[in-house]
Amino acid sequence: MIMNTAAITAQMRKLIAQLKQHNHAYYVLDNPLLEDSEYDQLRQELLALETAHPELVQSDSPTNQVGDKPLPFFTQVTHQIPMLSLGNLFTFDDLQNFMRRVNDRLADHQQNPEYEVELKLDGLAVSLLYQNGQLSQAVTRGDGQTGEDITQNVRTIRNLPLQLPIDIPRLEVRGEVLMPKAGFAKLNRDAEAKGEKTFANPRNAAAGSLRQLDPNIAKSRPLAFYAYSVNQGLPAEITTQSDALFWLKALGFSISDIKIVQTAAQLQAYYQSVIEKRSRLPFEIDGTVIKVNSLALQEQLGFLSREPRWATAYKFPAETVMTRLNAIEWQV
Ligand code: NAD
Repeated sequence: MIMNTAAITAQMRKLIAQLKQHNHAYYVLDNPLLEDSEYDQLRQELLALETAHPELVQSDSPTNQVGDKPLPFFTQVTHQIPMLSLGNLFTFDDLQNFMRRVNDRLADHQQNPEYEVELKLDGLAVSLLYQNGQLSQAVTRGDGQTGEDITQNVRTIRNLPLQLPIDIPRLEVRGEVLMPKAGFAKLNRDAEAKGEKTFANPRNAAAGSLRQLDPNIAKSRPLAFYAYSVNQGLPAEITTQSDALFWLKALGFSISDIKIVQTAAQLQAYYQSVIEKRSRLPFEIDGTVIKVNSLALQEQLGFLSREPRWATAYKFPAETVMTRLNAIEWQV
């Protein structure tokens, strides 16, 4: 069907209104109204229209935004280095295109760089600041520029060091706070037994637990922190993403599995192996994250407004879940 300009703009406006409503429910209220795959479809539809008709892109389009505004009742903290999102890949073709784009931006002798692959942990991005070896501040990603100060809640997470074993003047570590599957199931069972509201999924349970004014609530929840980057304070002799994570591990942080690959085929094989082991992991993941391993090349590749050029998420296909629509049909 050929759409005229007015119809395309109207369709864009409709998708923007829907995405804004769902962003608010997900990022601000921690209470999504759609499955992530349903949300991703809406976003892909808008992105496809924007790619085909760049002259019609609406200035308030959420496709270029990170998260949503921080909650006003927390102290707001401006990130010294913005906390961005990640681009998405869904197919092997997408993966090859991503690698091609990376090569196109690198000089000839740097092409086909080594990639480091991590699990895409399905939780909430948090930045931790350590000053003189002590955890001094923890902030959510928020809208990427400004996040919420959740230091008191993060201090209650048991698998992160409050004090580092070495004295570093200033260290910023970023990672994901998540709720392991077993703890999430128990939390919802207990809530049901008390007639209280249950959480839609472990990601929302983790986000809802951290964004509470009373730190005793976070303390009572089974939260864990997995580090995935050093954004300030990395020793100069560490030159790769994988070594940065091993260094964090030596400092007492939990990190996810790491795999180093050279080619798209190796990366695809690892991605398939992660899909197979996904259900046996103690926490939810929604894909893998692919990063150019050399920190110098990462710097050369730089950032787009919403995401780095040197990293991307390779998402899993939607799990065969019954959509709400199907579920309703099945009930009648
Ligand atoms: P994202 O979750 O797709 O990717 C970026 C995030 O990945 C980072 O901020 C970081 O927190 C996380 N991450 C996990 N493991 C990582 C690792 N090893 N290295 C680096 N980063 C890692 O992007 P997003 O902008 O946070 O949100 C988009 C997602 O939220 C989509 O999956 C979308 O479906 C979902 N969403 C759903 C709804 C809904 O209504 N269901 C609404 C809005 C967003």
